[in-house]
Amino acid sequence: VNILLLGSGGREHAFAWKIAQSKRLARLYIAPGNAGTAVCGTNVDINPVNFAAVKQFVLSNNINMVVVGPEEPLVKGIYDFFKEDHQISNIPVIGPSTVGARLEGSKDFAKDFMIRHRIPTAAYRSFTKKNADEAKAFLETLKAPYVLKADGLAAGKGVLIVDSLETAKAELDTMLNGRFGHAGDTVVIEEFLSGIECSVFVATDGKNFSVLPVAKDYKRIGVGDTGPNTGGMGAVSPVPFADAKFMDKVVSTIVEPTVKGLSADKIDYKGFIFIGLMNVQGDPYVIEYNVRMGDPETEAVLPRIESDIVELFQGIAYGGLDQYELKITPATAATVVCVSGGYPGDYAKGMEIKGLGNTADSIVFHAGTTAKGGKTFTAGGRVLAVTSFGDNITDAVGKSYKTIEGIGYEGKYYRTDIGKDLL
Ligand code: ATP
Repeated sequence: VNILLLGSGGREHAFAWKIAQSKRLARLYIAPGNAGTAVCGTNVDINPVNFAAVKQFVLSNNINMVVVGPEEPLVKGIYDFFKEDHQISNIPVIGPSTVGARLEGSKDFAKDFMIRHRIPTAAYRSFTKKNADEAKAFLETLKAPYVLKADGLAAGKGVLIVDSLETAKAELDTMLNGRFGHAGDTVVIEEFLSGIECSVFVATDGKNFSVLPVAKDYKRIGVGDTGPNTGGMGAVSPVPFADAKFMDKVVSTIVEPTVKGLSADKIDYKGFIFIGLMNVQGDPYVIEYNVRMGDPETEAVLPRIESDIVELFQGIAYGGLDQYELKITPATAATVVCVSGGYPGDYAKGMEIKGLGNTADSIVFHAGTTAKGGKTFTAGGRVLAVTSFGDNITDAVGKSYKTIEGIGYEGKYYRTDIGKDLL
């Protein structure tokens, strides 16, 4: 199989690393990729949302399958673009149709889907500028803290959790008045759920599904989960509290009804579903759906999968995922992300990264890097995602920290408490 993988982050390096190990792979291309993916396949300078360029490349390089890393091409309709063009309609795209991608692209759509299919989630109502007064009356019926969400994609910044009713009402007005552009034309107000979060990843062919390893990520920049949100500072898999009993509930109350619901709603979905969950006193509730794998969770999840990932993709694309045997190592994987100093605010790029040759105890996934003249340089906020295995979290995280100590670039920063809350 010749595969084109779209994206350029740590998630895509983890995919490329795993795909490169497949018996079924002939050639792997990554668009646009980074310095890490260049070792697993061939990077090509194509923007994943330039669908015409993607099509051209697929046709001229005899590509048999397109794997989509990030959400943007999915939400912008790459699956439908392929389906509707007879020249490429036979080439599977791993990812949902445009309607399916609305599970991530519209929180109102996702909440409505969950309520209709009786999937446990926080109670909610959606409002627009026209019924702002009703929205305020609804806020008055809720208890603090108040959860306000811009309906559309807002780069992870569209969710506000505020303690006072007055602030909630004021924030509602700013959201409805364009603070997040059109993403905030509709605002979802929901009940606050108290608990600890984890992420469950599911592969589906539209009918059958396979549950991948569960993970927990660390979103805030600072130790103790403080400071602003980031793309993700680390992840561990498995998650101790997501034991067999909890996962049974996840499958029967969430995964099964989600896959059945997609099929009942005639939503074409052949790809990954990322379910953000809250464990509320032992019961799972859905916080959000994403329509692709998470980053950095993928860097902890994929190394734990022992079976062939291209066979998993084939099961997703052609059906018959029920025949696919997913083998997972019981070992713990811990991923620590190294970022550029200043991130998630302003930061410098182009710093030379040294010490990448001596990392045998870990897998060093590149997130924002670029190669020039045999050297590797920083090229983004999140620079590297360092994954290690261990018998437990302490052991695995410890190895990642040791590897990171041997890697140097100006401004290197990472969180020193990944996994600590789970001990
Ligand atoms: P992401 O950055 O993961 O894409 P997002 O912007 O799509 O997030 P959500 O995942 O819906 O938004 O919410 C962001 C965070 O806010 C969640 O990870 C969770 O910590 C918190 N949160 C969201 N909804 C609730 C809720 N009902 N109760 C408590 N916390 C919540």
